[in-house]
Amino acid sequence: MSTTKDYYELLEVARDADADTLKKAYRRLAMKFHPDKNPDNPEAEERFKEISAAYGVLSDPEKRAHYDRFGADAPMAGDPFAGAGGVRLDPNHLRDVFGDVFEELFGSFFARANIHHGRDIRVRLEVTLEEAGTGAEKEVVFQRPAKCEPCGGTGAKPGTQPVKCDACRGAGQVRIQTGFLQLVQPCPKCAGSGVFVPSPCGKCRGTGLSNEEARRRLKVPAGIDTGQRIRIEGEGEPGRQNGTAGDLFVEIAIKPHPLFTREGRDLVCEVPITFPQAALGAQVEVPTLEGKVKVKVPSGTRSGAVVRLKGKGIYDLRGVGRGDQLVKLVIETPKRVTPRERELLEELQAIADAEAGKGQAGHEERKGFLDKLREFFG
Ligand SMILES: [Zn+2]
Ligand SMILES: [Zn+2]
Repeated sequence: MSTTKDYYELLEVARDADADTLKKAYRRLAMKFHPDKNPDNPEAEERFKEISAAYGVLSDPEKRAHYDRFGADAPMAGDPFAGAGGVRLDPNHLRDVFGDVFEELFGSFFARANIHHGRDIRVRLEVTLEEAGTGAEKEVVFQRPAKCEPCGGTGAKPGTQPVKCDACRGAGQVRIQTGFLQLVQPCPKCAGSGVFVPSPCGKCRGTGLSNEEARRRLKVPAGIDTGQRIRIEGEGEPGRQNGTAGDLFVEIAIKPHPLFTREGRDLVCEVPITFPQAALGAQVEVPTLEGKVKVKVPSGTRSGAVVRLKGKGIYDLRGVGRGDQLVKLVIETPKRVTPRERELLEELQAIADAEAGKGQAGHEERKGFLDKLREFFG
């Protein structure tokens, strides 16, 4: 497979296409170039592999970010998918893309390859907005089946042996012909293992697996959002009988933040100010993801005015730039006032009335309003 072709061009999508657009594009093209629909057409098969490889990368936020920065030829550390051109797609992921037609399209591809393939494990990881905004190293703790010790993973009671499954003659799979497609399915009797355990191990009840607590450190890329998944190959359930291990999918959940809300790459933060601060101008302390900064409130600020702190938002997941922080200045109207405050406010009001009448600079809005009011009521 050529690695010089552009993944976005292969999938016929724009470089900023979102997950849903990618999914739809891949689905459409995979249906078109599927080898079963193009018998004896090696070009279609090649194309099918290329778009599958492209989708395998672009559907994974971390791999996509890496691809955007370095291209397809720069392998990611510890990533068996990169380079070489092997198409490694996750059947669970594809099931999600293709729904009902998954078995029809990929049943024969995966049934054989995945008989002994360990299952994927999904785990949720809560991160703070700060961590998601600027990236972080985290550890996930999760339950992962490991080889059961007493039976050594065979599932058979110590001293006994599993026997070859008679339904599939040890193959672990059975074939079904439906129309022009031949589907290969895991054998229902042995669940694809190819063996049958006459006297199961007491500890694992024949599964050959026991649950263990596993820990894995991972890099949470800056710019990730709730619902996005990080895939760690081979960290899922171990394979049976020398099969390959499943993958670990870490789904990100960002904890609500007491000060910030996220709008794409931008952060929004509401900062209350007093009327004197708004009228006279001031310096206020404003929180950012990386500590407090001083922000100038210009004199004559209206309630709801926004000050943009360039480059203080969330990093772009693809490593190109960073969003802004929007500081929304909201004038706080006191719910209760002290007698002294009342005195001053009343005095201020008296002056404001007098000034508005004269059309004093800085009071134009109220003057204009009062004029219009007068006109309206004749
Ligand atoms: Zn069987
Ligand atoms: Zn056991």
